[in-house]
Amino acid sequence: MAACRPLQRLSFSTASPKIPDFAFAFDIDGVLVRSNDPLPNAPDALSFLQHQRIPFILLTNGGGKPEEERVADLTAKLKVPLDTTMFVQSHTPFADLDQYKDKTILVCGGDGDKCRYVAEKYGFKSVVIPGDIFCAYPEIWPFSTQFLPYYQPFARPLPKPILQDSPSDSLKIDAIFVYNDPRDWGLDATIILDILLSHKGILGTMSPRNGDIKAPNHGYLQDGQPPLFYSNPDLWWAAKYHLPRLGQGGFREAMEGLWTAVTGGPERNVELYKTLIGKPYRMTYEFAERRLNSHRKHLFSNQIDGEVPPLQKVYMVGDNPESDIRGANSYKSPLGTTWESILVRTGVYQNGEPAWSPKTIQPGVWEAVKWALDQNKARYELDLRKILSIPGAKMSQ
Ligand SMILES: [Mg+2]
Repeated sequence: MAACRPLQRLSFSTASPKIPDFAFAFDIDGVLVRSNDPLPNAPDALSFLQHQRIPFILLTNGGGKPEEERVADLTAKLKVPLDTTMFVQSHTPFADLDQYKDKTILVCGGDGDKCRYVAEKYGFKSVVIPGDIFCAYPEIWPFSTQFLPYYQPFARPLPKPILQDSPSDSLKIDAIFVYNDPRDWGLDATIILDILLSHKGILGTMSPRNGDIKAPNHGYLQDGQPPLFYSNPDLWWAAKYHLPRLGQGGFREAMEGLWTAVTGGPERNVELYKTLIGKPYRMTYEFAERRLNSHRKHLFSNQIDGEVPPLQKVYMVGDNPESDIRGANSYKSPLGTTWESILVRTGVYQNGEPAWSPKTIQPGVWEAVKWALDQNKARYELDLRKILSIPGAKMSQ
């Protein structure tokens, strides 16, 4: 592989800006890896950018593991040194929600209780998962009793019991987070629905305001119930199976269906209030841009005198028109940075007219990098012939 031999550094001459004012944000699944395998030329593309000191971050709607674990995993797969400062998972922006860190939160999704550890690493002090509630009260969802042996090894005692006769002493949830794809949809949906229909988020209660046609939203979610956050809107994702698989967006749609069945839903003007983050939503792009700017500062502060010049352009390279491309196209940076989208054919998108039009469609990640460098070659005197040394990449020059 080309990454094994030294690459020649592109010339950032004195006549051109000393450091690049552009950067990359790469999606992971379907762009750099597919299931457990790196995609062709992905290690070379990242290695090349690192060698050229062109900054990039990885911006994924995936998650379910602590950032350190996922970065170590990707470093091994892609054979490129990465660190958590250049890595944003779907749930990483939850780390900024300080207002819930001293409260009791429900965290759903992921393998075992890995997402509990992720939340605790972010600083949330009292984290309950559906498995904790289920092990304490298996009758809450009788159809999962065969899964008790799965939950028991990692379930923790609840901070408070569920007391039917004494709600004021009962377990109260102050925010609901879906960190990753729920593994046990029935259990997670039941508990989330219970909390959304409760009085002030107290488990085991039912709000007396539910169904009050004179109240806003027919009384639903009008009684101090906690907010609901989803971290990843993707309906589909590219897994090992030859057809895309349902993602966290599938669970969210199922929750919407349940909500409609229980409350009457949109036909009765009853809404399920929620906050969505992850690509394509603004909060995630803002968070990613902050990460990218601090990464640039770290990378270049020793290289120049004074302030690192502002980031002018970010190339978002993704395989999913609905999340990667839509998000980059819609995002308006508060710092005036332009985001341009590049769609690749190695994941969810294969052919045809994409639902959201990118700036360009490229076969894979290396061609995407090459295209973006081409856009900047005049200002930076980039000698793209030197890039041609990477084998396997189909390039025209
Ligand atoms: Mg993807």
